[in-house]
Amino acid sequence: MNKDLGDIFVISAPSGTGKTTLAGRLLSDFPTLVFSVSYTTRPPRSNEINGKDYFFISKGEFEKKIAQGEMIEWAEVYGNYYGTSATFLRQKIEEGKDILLDIDIQGAKQVKQRFPESVLIFISPPSFKELEYRLKKRGTDPPEIIAKRLQAAKLEMEAAKDFDHIVINDDFKKAIREIKAIIVAYKTRVTKRWWQVKNILRSFE
Ligand code: ADP
Ligand code: 5GP
Repeated sequence: MNKDLGDIFVISAPSGTGKTTLAGRLLSDFPTLVFSVSYTTRPPRSNEINGKDYFFISKGEFEKKIAQGEMIEWAEVYGNYYGTSATFLRQKIEEGKDILLDIDIQGAKQVKQRFPESVLIFISPPSFKELEYRLKKRGTDPPEIIAKRLQAAKLEMEAAKDFDHIVINDDFKKAIREIKAIIVAYKTRVTKRWWQVKNILRSFE
């Protein structure tokens, strides 16, 4: 195990579960964690910033990036393309940075295939009613889009069994605690820490 390589943490959830909010808190609590800004052909929401939340590009530009092999994974979600930059991911891993990906379930599976050591965390809403309430309360999508997202949610929930961890986002603070515990447990595995013990051992000589 190379001590200098970063690790990949993926969070996926049905839309409206709260993963963007969770990701925001994790990034402020773990300053070493880097967010992978995805490319999308979806139009920006009023509060979104190009280059921070997403790179907003046209369908033509997206297709060009696929052809150039620039997408480590990509998927069509609710009629728009979303994808993760291969260059960014590889660069951060090389720099030893841990990366947080907020991507859909199809994307999470592709990442696991290409990076078997990546950690997939499924975030579940506490109930269908609460998911519907959160999507409406967020107020960013028209009713027909909300209906589409709720329809997709049931199938997405089934995919939880293919993930490494499941966190139920009922109480926000508890969900954050659990995700942090997953990250810390992974970073303290023997394969990750052994090089440190080897250095400490030198002081015993
Ligand atoms: P996603 O990124 O999964 O689509 P968001 O992060 O946009 O979801 O969250 C959807 C809505 O739910 C937002 O209004 C957010 O403030 C709210 N929310 C997130 N987590 C919780 C929670 N644990 N309890 C109540 N509301 C929450
Ligand atoms: P939203 O439009 O609500 O921002 O995101 C819709 C869905 O697309 C969410 O499930 C989100 O996680 C997913 N998504 C965002 N970026 C990517 C990406 O780069 N790849 C994939 N596969 N899904 C993404």
